[in-house]
Amino acid sequence: MPDRGSTFAQVTARFAARFGRPPQVLIRSPGRVNLIGDHTDYNDGYVLPLAIEREVLVAAALRGDRTVLLASGGFPDVSIDLDALDHGGPEWGEYATGVAWSLRLAGVDLVGWDGMVESDVPVGAGLSSSAALELAVARVFTELAAVPWEPEAMAVAARRAENDWVGMACGIMDQLVIAAAPAGAALLIDCRSLETTPVRLPVGVAVVVVDTGTRRSLVGSAYNERRAACERAARSIGVAALRDATVDDLATVGDATTRRRARHVVTENGRVLAMRDALGRADLGTAGRLMTESHASLRDDFEVSTPAVDAVVERISAFPGCFGARITGAGFGGCVVALVASRYVPEILAALAAAAGVREAFVTRPAAGVTAAPAGP
Ligand code: ADP
Ligand code: MG
Repeated sequence: MPDRGSTFAQVTARFAARFGRPPQVLIRSPGRVNLIGDHTDYNDGYVLPLAIEREVLVAAALRGDRTVLLASGGFPDVSIDLDALDHGGPEWGEYATGVAWSLRLAGVDLVGWDGMVESDVPVGAGLSSSAALELAVARVFTELAAVPWEPEAMAVAARRAENDWVGMACGIMDQLVIAAAPAGAALLIDCRSLETTPVRLPVGVAVVVVDTGTRRSLVGSAYNERRAACERAARSIGVAALRDATVDDLATVGDATTRRRARHVVTENGRVLAMRDALGRADLGTAGRLMTESHASLRDDFEVSTPAVDAVVERISAFPGCFGARITGAGFGGCVVALVASRYVPEILAALAAAAGVREAFVTRPAAGVTAAPAGP
């Protein structure tokens, strides 16, 4: 587990070294892992993610002008003119510029600031480093402008930045869980109403995240292709979104591939609600089976898994003490999530650390969503 105190101390020191004064605010914005419910969010369905103990930290202070200057280890600096928001510059700057653009649309008065970013959320691994960065930037803007934090509105604004400024047509899951997660619980999200319900994990069970280290380019186009298939299926069934479709409706979808895509979404929504119920009655056998079924559905019907990910899912599923495992996030590589009996965690992590096809494996408790604190003296 990262030592949060020293990490805050580090980002504070780096801010001071770079900008020649102490920061005013420290923001902690976690990544997330999705227990179950992938590719359901943009179909108005259900998801069950949790914020993880890996986070984007930002130390920031007002500048007194209309510029945002951002530094992040390993990335080129980003300079944003708040009076002329535009594309261009380093790619990661688009997330910050997009958030500024979106917050302005939401009526937030933008102020200029310097920011130092530090993160232990792996990039492009399906743990949503992008949404963690977006919500961190949103939180700096609101703190420095003394605007109260409204998790739902800020999640919607950050999603808008990613959809309409960055050009990634993601659903609301990542932004909402990072904006609103309660410490100690996963968050059931109804992606139509945006209603959220905390779901506690039973005692004695742990969430293990395994990064396969594989990253796939062209995720954006494959993702948009899956979205389009879901929309086609909903149209041919005659519903507003696949959230409203049943398994019986699938027969009306003529094209076989489109029907499989829709079958994943319809069955996955059912699994999310069944997972909430199973966790509620501490029925870990059922919870694990639902995760295994979710993986099979994402692999065979939605076709967003890869052989490297399948191999890690099989490997971790075979450990004694593992209830279930699945690919997590949008897919095409990235991470696996597993539910395991807590007492087996050290053994499983040790075995995975030595396993081929694993970049890293870690255990996480459900963390709180984005938080802000005044920077210490
Ligand atoms: P994921 O959200 O699954 O990690 P994405 O491709 O959606 O993957 O987002 C990754 C992008 O987010 C990076 O390419 C970079 O632009 C930005 N990003 C993430 N973390 C950081 C960071 N610590 N500093 C700067 N940019 C970051
Ligand atoms: Mg992302």
